[in-house]
Amino acid sequence: MTDPLVFAHQTLGQRILFGSGLAAVNVAAEVDRLGADAVMVITGGHDANFASGVARQINATLTYDDVAPHVPIEKAEKARAAAQEYDVDLVVCVGGGSAIGLAKAIALTSRLPIIAVPTTYAGSEATNVWGITEASRKTTGVDDGVLPVSVIYDAELTLSLPVELSVASGLNALAHCVDSLWAPRADPINAAMASEGIRALSAGLSALNAGSGDLRGREQTQYGAYLSAVAFASAGSGMHHKICHVLGGAYDLPHAQTHATVLPYVLAFNAPAAPEAARRIADALGCSDALEGLNQLRKRLKAPVALRDYGLKETDLSEAADLILKVIPSSNPRKVTRQDLLILLHAAWNGAEF
Ligand code: NAD
Repeated sequence: MTDPLVFAHQTLGQRILFGSGLAAVNVAAEVDRLGADAVMVITGGHDANFASGVARQINATLTYDDVAPHVPIEKAEKARAAAQEYDVDLVVCVGGGSAIGLAKAIALTSRLPIIAVPTTYAGSEATNVWGITEASRKTTGVDDGVLPVSVIYDAELTLSLPVELSVASGLNALAHCVDSLWAPRADPINAAMASEGIRALSAGLSALNAGSGDLRGREQTQYGAYLSAVAFASAGSGMHHKICHVLGGAYDLPHAQTHATVLPYVLAFNAPAAPEAARRIADALGCSDALEGLNQLRKRLKAPVALRDYGLKETDLSEAADLILKVIPSSNPRKVTRQDLLILLHAAWNGAEF
């Protein structure tokens, strides 16, 4: 017999449009549907041509490209002031998590609606989580007002994303799925999304790794990234996200590569105490053992291997263990000690077997 089903699940309301080559048409249709008069288009920079084409098509009031990683408060305030000055009533953001993060910072104080057009697999577009950095400290919060009302996925916009960054970003999405299986609000609904997310990400990343022009692989990866973000938003941050949040915030490590590197270590640590999660992951990866399946995928994809390659110093590990220990969720399937964290971090720093 299965266990009794008792849980509370929150579903976030968004309109999701998928279609390669359809982003410009879909943005125009959504702007029309939402009845906006003064649109601000935010662009992450690499997509300036696409963004300026869209801005012309929808007769945008303002095109804005002062985007920086982790949303520094000064950039957020400048963008908020620009939105106010131009009497903006809708924000369209095109780019990765940094561009979407800036749009969320505007929405946090103005309640303006957002249309998000993601160009990486980070997944911020499907969460109600915002993040702002002040004096080198990143604060995050949850507010339904920052959830984009529409998300427009167009795999053609990811063709320019280099394969290495696509792999790191796709594994960032895979980490949302894995961590959501033991995060504080894990439930059967977000677990189902996480399983399908892992399957789609594994298939999509394998295909795009075989040739950077593989549009079908990138579509599958976007689909998996969306599911991963929905699962993560619903389940909350587990041990993996807590570790990466500390490492990214305190030592300025790159977001996607940090997630991609840390994931196998958290899986190796938790899997023996979370057999149902491990079975789901293994099934979704089409193999008999979750960790072996993840490691095989990582090897095929030539995934990032060691935190020391991204600027973390060995002398940082002791302080990092202290900072992480304070935020490990009590829901984690395995009790975590400072010594456990030191061993895990040291292995991830070195890229060693764990
Ligand atoms: P990013 O947005 O900083 O993009 C990384 C780099 O890739 C940038 O230089 C960008 O210009 C470039 N880039 C993006 N798309 C490209 C494309 N299609 N072609 C070529 N270059 C491209 O990084 P990210 O990993 O997408 O996002 C990371 C940020 O998002 C972090 O600040 C993280 O905290 C945040 N995030 C937030 C949530 C949330 O729920 N709030 C979820 C995930 C990530």
